Amino acid sequence: MPDERAAALAALAVEIEACRACPLGSQRTQSVPGEGSPNAELLLVGEAPGAHEDAAGRPFVGAAGKLLDLLLSLIGLQRPQVYVLNVVKCRPPENRDPEPTEIAACAGFLERQLALLQPVIIAPLGRHALRAFAPDAKISEAHGAPFQGATRQTPAGTTLFPLYHPAAALHNGALRPTLERDMGALARALPAARSTWRVARGGAGEASLSEIEAAAERDQLRLFESEAQ
Ligand code: SF4
Repeated sequence: MPDERAAALAALAVEIEACRACPLGSQRTQSVPGEGSPNAELLLVGEAPGAHEDAAGRPFVGAAGKLLDLLLSLIGLQRPQVYVLNVVKCRPPENRDPEPTEIAACAGFLERQLALLQPVIIAPLGRHALRAFAPDAKISEAHGAPFQGATRQTPAGTTLFPLYHPAAALHNGALRPTLERDMGALARALPAARSTWRVARGGAGEASLSEIEAAAERDQLRLFESEAQ
């Protein structure tokens, strides 16, 4: 099952690289489909690739990526234990915000990635990524807690946990302690989120063997809980 999921994600990345469904496809250097553990409990979602990501074909590799790594380390995680991707897979020129038509053109890829990954927690990074899941939410109000309002695209049982974008903390140092506190809150929210996730897949006490095996394979966040206590 994990191998099948990894293969499906890899096949999707090949489709993304070949895609020219919106103008960004012919303007970028290479696509940035996302990367990480196919069994990650935590999925971090940015808005769109920047210049460094466009050159590397990998998400969050610049200064914001370094801060993201540091934030993950605060809760005992490393990048290969989570999954990181963007709402839009190709870099908008001059790092402008993606147009609604470009987001719409790329939405099918995000949808398929979410269906494959089925994460316990999705953490949209910043207001633009949050908008993809909760169009009316404000990051200044929603950050640092499980989102309680209506969401779209979020798989059944998955908890949406908005965070500020690491780049926002690079531009405004005052946000950094907030982001660090929010990461701790995310770690503390994991046990309840995991219960919700399991119940949505058949009940905590009635999980099928395959579900139990899948849960057992999700061992990458064991440190996550111990760090949070
Ligand atoms: S941004 Fe998405 S829809 Fe547009 S070309 Fe790239 S992969 Fe295709």
